[in-house]
Amino acid sequence: MMQRRQFLAAGLSAGAVSSFAFLAASGAWAQNTPNLGTPTPASPGFRRMKVGDAEVIALNDGVARRPLGEEFVKNAPLAEVRALLAAQGLPTDYIDIPFSAFLVVNGNRRVLMDAGFADNGGPTTGRLLANLAAAGFKPEDIDTVLITHYHGDHIQGLRRKDGSLVYPNAKVMVPEPEHAFWMDDATMNARPEAQRGGFMVARRVFASMPADKLVRFTPGTEVVPGIRSVAAFGHTPGHTLFEVQSAGQSFFYVGDLTNVPALFARNPDWAVTFDMDAEAARKVRREVFQRIVSSNAMVGGYHFPFPAFGRLAAQGNGYAFQPVA
Ligand SMILES: [Zn+2]
Repeated sequence: MMQRRQFLAAGLSAGAVSSFAFLAASGAWAQNTPNLGTPTPASPGFRRMKVGDAEVIALNDGVARRPLGEEFVKNAPLAEVRALLAAQGLPTDYIDIPFSAFLVVNGNRRVLMDAGFADNGGPTTGRLLANLAAAGFKPEDIDTVLITHYHGDHIQGLRRKDGSLVYPNAKVMVPEPEHAFWMDDATMNARPEAQRGGFMVARRVFASMPADKLVRFTPGTEVVPGIRSVAAFGHTPGHTLFEVQSAGQSFFYVGDLTNVPALFARNPDWAVTFDMDAEAARKVRREVFQRIVSSNAMVGGYHFPFPAFGRLAAQGNGYAFQPVA
């Protein structure tokens, strides 16, 4: 884990906020590149699993297709990236990036982890609410939303375009260091206009959220009975994971610890263009993957191929993600 000083250095270093933030603000992040065809969202877009006495339901919000260029993996040649995709039978000229949140149903609690786009994204996103309904729940049923980090694909779904809150009865629990970074005006204003998009998204979602709805927590603490937060700073300054435990079983929701596992679980040292502090992200990715494999926990990731949960197994210099059948 990063020390506080390292975190500050990472968070404030020049250019730490990539063009991703800008894309997130415009919604372009979830737009597809038309000449590459249109990706197909998961159908059915929900999947249940038991974790001890609790139930965890993967909820797909959709998928976006982007061209695969030199910039996508920052520290590996494109030819090597393409070869790894080809070896797994995957397309080599584009990447499909799915978006899936997770609902934890435990006793009388209904806890959603990350929030998708609602109506703020592209045409192949915004399916989370339909999939929530298909799984038998209404937005009003959600009592808590846990947020891993403030990138637009994870938080925009808290609020519709018209400003209304999507989960009217939910407390929204956010990692304190993540909130502090994105909501700090000095940090935002120190950047050129074109790099402020992500900061604007955070303000649109959180600035007017009533104080009794927004709860900041310290990563490392239990946030809801049976759900512990785990600091995993690097992807963003306050990026945080959630571990669900019930009756001796556990499910590790790893957020954006890795982007598409076909590339970044297989090569945990590769850095996706969205990792703000690539070295911190790399270290914590290896630590957490090792911990998951050692404990044989079920794992789920926001950008994993649907149903977005399964097991990790050691393979070569990294790990293979094996989705549940
Ligand atoms: Zn993401």
